[in-house]
Amino acid sequence: MNIKMVDLGSQYNRLKTEIDGAIQSVIDSQQFIGGKTVSELASNLEVYNKVKYVIPCGNGTDALQIALMALDFKPGSEVIVPSFTFVATAETIALLGLTPVFVDVDPDSFTIDINKIKAKISTKTVAILPVHLYGQNADMQAIIQLAKEYNLKVIEDAAQSIGSDYFFEDGRKLKSGTIGHIGTTSFFPSKNLGAYGDGGAIFTNDENLALACKQIANHGQSKKYFSNRVGINSRLDALQAAILGVKLKYLDEFNKQRKQKAEVYDNLLKHIEEVTLPKRVGYSEHVFHQYTIKVPKAKRNDLKEFLLQKEVPTMIYYPVPIHQQAAYFKEDSIDLKITESLSQSVISLPIHPDLPETHQKLICNLISDFFSK
Ligand SMILES: *Cc1c(COP(=O)(O)O)cnc(C)c1O
Repeated sequence: MNIKMVDLGSQYNRLKTEIDGAIQSVIDSQQFIGGKTVSELASNLEVYNKVKYVIPCGNGTDALQIALMALDFKPGSEVIVPSFTFVATAETIALLGLTPVFVDVDPDSFTIDINKIKAKISTKTVAILPVHLYGQNADMQAIIQLAKEYNLKVIEDAAQSIGSDYFFEDGRKLKSGTIGHIGTTSFFPSKNLGAYGDGGAIFTNDENLALACKQIANHGQSKKYFSNRVGINSRLDALQAAILGVKLKYLDEFNKQRKQKAEVYDNLLKHIEEVTLPKRVGYSEHVFHQYTIKVPKAKRNDLKEFLLQKEVPTMIYYPVPIHQQAAYFKEDSIDLKITESLSQSVISLPIHPDLPETHQKLICNLISDFFSK
């Protein structure tokens, strides 16, 4: 059947004419760095996300680094962050001489547990950096409130959640990554809005932060050959911007298809006692960057192996929490029990907009077989 975790080939075949045309027009223009294609993508993303400023950059990790640099925190300052995430989130904090302070996640939503943040706030804390893991927003209303109370900045890692709506109690809704002071995303090929190479972007409604990000991403230059701060070189190239421009038009459709696939999985898996389905929270849309179930720890790796033998790929996001990585090991991070437990019980199944229902049925039948052995 050739089941894939992510199927970029089928998506390309659907959009081939448009994508080929967009690539050709960049080649014809000979403007490979910056220029109209990149600035058009930024404006289209501003409209899509209803945010004032979008700053494209080289990748999602750079986006986090640039956002943190723009906020200009003193070295030694503490940033509150989940440990149950991709390493880039904490890496950029550490790289800038700041200290990641890990907070446990909620066992059902997989995002930072807002009830455990307060205890980790110290006099050195400057920011909270929630990660909207697997495509569902963290509890931003509570995070914003806490941040106001303690005068902290909020940086959202929206690498997995682009397009997801966040719902406030008063009925307002905002797009993922545009709720805090600054948000970041990644256009890594397998992300919900993926390029054909690296890419990333920063979102903000703050004019000063936007200007700072723009300059930092371009060697700290206020104009060509005038650097007024230390920056980096982080560019989204025009070919990637052209491809993303085509795909952005279909992002809502892609996300809708992902949600439909998730419901199909729910229905096929719900009768299996050992499987815990991914929870949907009321305050966020779930755009299913990953469809991640929980199974008993003792059986998780065997299930993965069993599926692999039947040529069904699965992934573990993430097998080792950041606080247990050699580079980030902390003696005092012993209270991250949910994070540690989840790293042993989660397993992500194939999901992408083109996943056929026949594949889903086969996968779920195999999971059912495995647990009835
Ligand atoms: C993918 C990802 C990143 C990093 O993005 P790159 O474009 O690969 O640098 C950061 N955070 C999270 C949560 C991610 O999933």
